[in-house]
Amino acid sequence: MGYVGEVSKEKAEKDTYYKEGDYIGKSGIEMSYEEALRGRKGVQYEITDVHNKTVGRYMQGKYDTLAISGKPLYSSIDAELQEYGERLMRGKKGAVVAIEPSTGEILCLISSPTYDPNSLVSGKERNKSFARMYADTINVPLFNRALTAMYPPGSIFKLIDALIAQNDGLINRNTSYPCQMGYPPMGGKPKCHAHGGGKNLTGSIAASCNSYYSYVFRDIVDQRKYPNFIDGYNHWRDMVKTFGPGTRLGTDLPHDKPGNVPSVEYYNKVFGKGGWRSNTIVSLGIGQAELTLVPLQMANVVAIIANKGFYYTPHCIKGVGKEKYLDPKFKTKHLAAVQKQEYYDIVIEGMEGALLPGGTAFASRLKDIVVCGKTGTAQNPHGKDHAVFLAFAPKENPKIAIACLVENAGFGGVWSAPIVTLLMEKYLKGKTDRPELEKRIMEANLIDGSILITDKID
Ligand SMILES: [Zn+2]
Repeated sequence: MGYVGEVSKEKAEKDTYYKEGDYIGKSGIEMSYEEALRGRKGVQYEITDVHNKTVGRYMQGKYDTLAISGKPLYSSIDAELQEYGERLMRGKKGAVVAIEPSTGEILCLISSPTYDPNSLVSGKERNKSFARMYADTINVPLFNRALTAMYPPGSIFKLIDALIAQNDGLINRNTSYPCQMGYPPMGGKPKCHAHGGGKNLTGSIAASCNSYYSYVFRDIVDQRKYPNFIDGYNHWRDMVKTFGPGTRLGTDLPHDKPGNVPSVEYYNKVFGKGGWRSNTIVSLGIGQAELTLVPLQMANVVAIIANKGFYYTPHCIKGVGKEKYLDPKFKTKHLAAVQKQEYYDIVIEGMEGALLPGGTAFASRLKDIVVCGKTGTAQNPHGKDHAVFLAFAPKENPKIAIACLVENAGFGGVWSAPIVTLLMEKYLKGKTDRPELEKRIMEANLIDGSILITDKID
């Protein structure tokens, strides 16, 4: 839900439907579905005297029209899940987006800290609330992080690389690369974390090996097919874009941002033409550098993996009016560049491994639901890194795909993975089996620094 407010003077001058003082949707579905929601004004023609006093109806009301009320909207938002997610995200900055993979329907969309839409309805109260929220540069409640905050995706991006490299015939299930806690050809960058030994493809996902994806990225960009690595880079970029990043998804909520997959022109400007190689930009392979996604796009990526190769543009209104009209653009299947089911099966196996012993999200496993997930840490140049987790469940016939990002919360497995799996329990079973964890997450306040969780969950 967004909010409504008085129509601006400019709008009233440009659009004859509105008069100053009318209400109009200013954000959220109130804005994007304004025409359906507003209905039609009724008109009554009156005869007035020279003093502007009504003396009767013109032509006995022959030309009068009745007002028609707005159409009902049917939302896909699961109110209970939304409310639960808001409680879990209280005291944290970040966003959660959950999608039903088979339809693209948005099940919950949370940006935290948030505001009470009721405080923005009218009059003095509205002006006061607005001023207060505008001035709040620490929490920035009016900023919808789920749609507009562009974050580096971190390790969740390895999933896309794994799919592209398999599709190009460069790696398979058994491919392994050395993890040297660093990558010598680039002077020890990017660094890996302790996860023991070299890994095959599924193991590299479960353990999130940085070195592995530095090799994979270079394999894709420098493959023999493209003697000029610029063509290899553009090939990688084109493939990535079919998973959603780099273009506005075109959801039915206003203002969603495109994220960024940097172009050749951009790097030519930064490094000079001929001044960069795959090595220069290798951290793109692990979801860092200039690569950014909004949380909605992150959720869409995991929905594509759950669907093994396609998505419907995420939307939160599944029908307009009694006839439940749905814009055809939300019924159009979008295919990712990787279509072979087997490639997805291997990646999904790795994601399942993330919640098994040795995996990066083992602590957040559920005992009776098979969750397939991927942790990530989004680099934050301005302070502590952001924790990312995306996952879908159940493994067979997935019902929900979720991305969660908690700002300044460090490693993805610690904060985001518990929030995601609690939401999954809520959605699939109605309640959690882990009330202790639920309580600790709800009570944790990461914004003002008084972190109540003292023992490491991960
Ligand atoms: Zn490693």
